[in-house]
Amino acid sequence: MHILITNDDGITAPGLLALKQALAPLGTLTVVAPARNYSAAGHRKTMHKPLRLEPAALADGTPAWACSGAPSDSVALALLGFVKDKVDLVFSGINPNANIGQDLTYSGTVTAALEAVIAGVPGVAVSVDGAHAPGDYAAAAAAARQVAERLAAHGLPPGLGLNLNVPAGQPRGWRVTRQGRRIYRDALVERHDPRGKPYYWIGGDVPTGEAIEGTDFWALAHGFISITPLQLDLTAHAALPALARWWE
Ligand code: MN
Repeated sequence: MHILITNDDGITAPGLLALKQALAPLGTLTVVAPARNYSAAGHRKTMHKPLRLEPAALADGTPAWACSGAPSDSVALALLGFVKDKVDLVFSGINPNANIGQDLTYSGTVTAALEAVIAGVPGVAVSVDGAHAPGDYAAAAAAARQVAERLAAHGLPPGLGLNLNVPAGQPRGWRVTRQGRRIYRDALVERHDPRGKPYYWIGGDVPTGEAIEGTDFWALAHGFISITPLQLDLTAHAALPALARWWE
C-alpha cells in the first residue's frame, strides 16, 4: 500500500511527523507538504505561477518534498505523476485544531483530502481538537492508523472522503457523524499603519458550534472520535423543486 501524506500547517509541523510515524508500518509513504503554513487556504489550484518541489526532511530524517503551493496543489502534483507509483490512500494532517461544520470549506487539511477524492483516491483529513492539550497528537495518530487499516480492508466507494476529528487525551470511543454547524465569533479588528492608513485582521473568539447529537461538533464535545463521510456534491437537493418553480 502506498500512502501519500500532506498537511496544511507546513512541512515542519509536528502533526505531520506524528501522522507519518503512525502510518509508516502500513506501507510505503511519500510526504509532499506545503513549504509554509497554508491553514484556512481552502481548496485552491495554483494556475498563474509555477509550482516547485524541494527535497526536505522531517524531524526524524524521513525524506519529504516541500511544495511551494497549497495543500491541494501538493496532492494534485503528487497524483498527477510526480509520485510514479499508484497511490492508494491520501492522508492530510494532523491539524492541531478541529475541522468541523463550516470549517470544511476553509480547511486546507480537508481540501487536500478532497483533492485526492477528485483524483479518484480515498482522502482522509485528520485533526485533533487540541485547544485543551496543545501538541498532543497521540490519540489522533492512533485513530488515523485505525482508519487506514479499515480503509485497506473495506475500501471506500468512489467519490467519498473521510473527515476524522479526535479529542485530545483519551477518547471515549467512536461516533460516525454528519457535518454539524459552527458558531463563529469572528470580529473585525481595525488598526492603523505608521502612515495612518487602516488595515484589518479577522479576529474574535474561537468558534463554538451547535451541540446537536449526531454531528461532528457533538461527538468532540462529548469526548468521542468523530468520523464523517464526505462528498464533493454541494447541491442542496431539498431546494431543487422550489428553485425549479421560478421558471414555471
Ligand atoms: Mn492547519
